[in-house]
Amino acid sequence: MKYISTRGDQTLRGFSEILLEGLAPDGGLYLPVRYPHVDAAMLAAWRGLSYADLAFEILSLYIDDIPAEDLRMLVRKTYTAEVFGSAAIVPLKPLEPGLALEALSNGPTLAFKDMAMQLLGNLFEYELDRRGESLNILGATSGDTGSAAEHAMRGKRGVNVFMLSPHGRMSPFQQAQMFSLQDANIHNLAVEGVFDDCQDIVKAVSNDLAFKRRYRIGTVNSINWARLLAQVVYYFAGYFQATTTNDERVSFTVPSGNFGNVCAGHVARMMGLPIAQLVVATNENNVLEEFFRTGTYRVRGSAETWETSSPSMDISKASNFERFVFDLLGRDGARTQSLFGAALSRDGAFTLSADEFARVAGYGFVAGRSTHADRLATIQATWQAHGVLVDTHTADGLKVAREHRQDGIPMIVLETALPAKFEATITEALGDAVHAPRPAHLADLESRPKRFQVVPADTATVQRYIEAHVIL
Ligand SMILES: *Cc1c(COP(=O)(O)O)cnc(C)c1O
Repeated sequence: MKYISTRGDQTLRGFSEILLEGLAPDGGLYLPVRYPHVDAAMLAAWRGLSYADLAFEILSLYIDDIPAEDLRMLVRKTYTAEVFGSAAIVPLKPLEPGLALEALSNGPTLAFKDMAMQLLGNLFEYELDRRGESLNILGATSGDTGSAAEHAMRGKRGVNVFMLSPHGRMSPFQQAQMFSLQDANIHNLAVEGVFDDCQDIVKAVSNDLAFKRRYRIGTVNSINWARLLAQVVYYFAGYFQATTTNDERVSFTVPSGNFGNVCAGHVARMMGLPIAQLVVATNENNVLEEFFRTGTYRVRGSAETWETSSPSMDISKASNFERFVFDLLGRDGARTQSLFGAALSRDGAFTLSADEFARVAGYGFVAGRSTHADRLATIQATWQAHGVLVDTHTADGLKVAREHRQDGIPMIVLETALPAKFEATITEALGDAVHAPRPAHLADLESRPKRFQVVPADTATVQRYIEAHVIL
């Protein structure tokens, strides 16, 4: 399988080539030249496979430059009951007939990002080892992504992580998840500033091309194709658990921010998985809900980006959305460039033509929006009716899922985090008497020794720190 850019560059690249890269050189995102089709015989053969073996079957349709036995070793090493809490890896939790949660959040950092990041850690280590190279990952985080990346890369040969976070502004749980790591290759830099300062420093360092090349600086952001590919697997795994034959259809509701998770659902549907609807659930930051309602995609400024109680969905733009639009436009790279390159940088927005927008329905997408009051009500209702505690992001999904259920079609809501990560809102919804259960191995998390370095919000200081600690 070869990969091309969404903005018209037709250069064909292999999986290993794009694995360690972010954007394509023309500013687009990578996609496979075509989606492999999964036929009835393949679906039948895959039903009943272990999660790791299912992952191997799907990944091997997209990866032909890693020997099959190595790829199988990598997925088996990644998707284990020890790391993900159960042999099913992503067990379905039925709430009522036709409505279930798919548990994606039982990995090391209690959010679904572990599903892809854990594989990425093993793929990076393998590929760097094969090339005899090393990589210094630089990132900024306000919580979830940074901890998932650190837990995936800790102790990996050839990989160093420098993670910038706003000093004193993460929850005690999030801080402890990152700062308690004692691995020599993990560097936590607590920046005296806000998240935007951290992101500005990462951008400034990445724009210093000489520095970037000299110190082999890379990233692990959500546009990485391998992360998206890893997420395709759990749509198949959810489908097999919710159905008994391959003639049935299911729908998925996905709590969305950067459109990475639900874009993997789009890929699964393009491959032929019988998905009726892909329901995009947003919080108050409704960039995506607005698009699916109106055909206008409008990036928000920071003054219009709200801090909500489902913080991992607080986005001003949806960085993976371009992949879907490229498919929607019949893979017209010039048109995609005119929208995402030209129009967005000029106007901060674009509107599809009526013809283009009319095609969206054919891809199964619908959307809805959820607010803080909806989250509290959904957390309460789900606890009272089912005795199940959901986190704030999953609550957004459940609220929107209920608006889109169709007779005879099971609805699966992706559980993107565990409630233990968001205790304050659980208490706001349910009072002091109900506590989100925490996995036993994290009971003492906040009291563990912490390892981090406080630095001023200054690019040169961060560069000096990197110089002193890189591996080359
Ligand atoms: C990252 C995240 C999301 C949003 O996922 P996208 O792939 O950015 O759409 C939703 N919920 C949680 C808990 C997350 O960490």
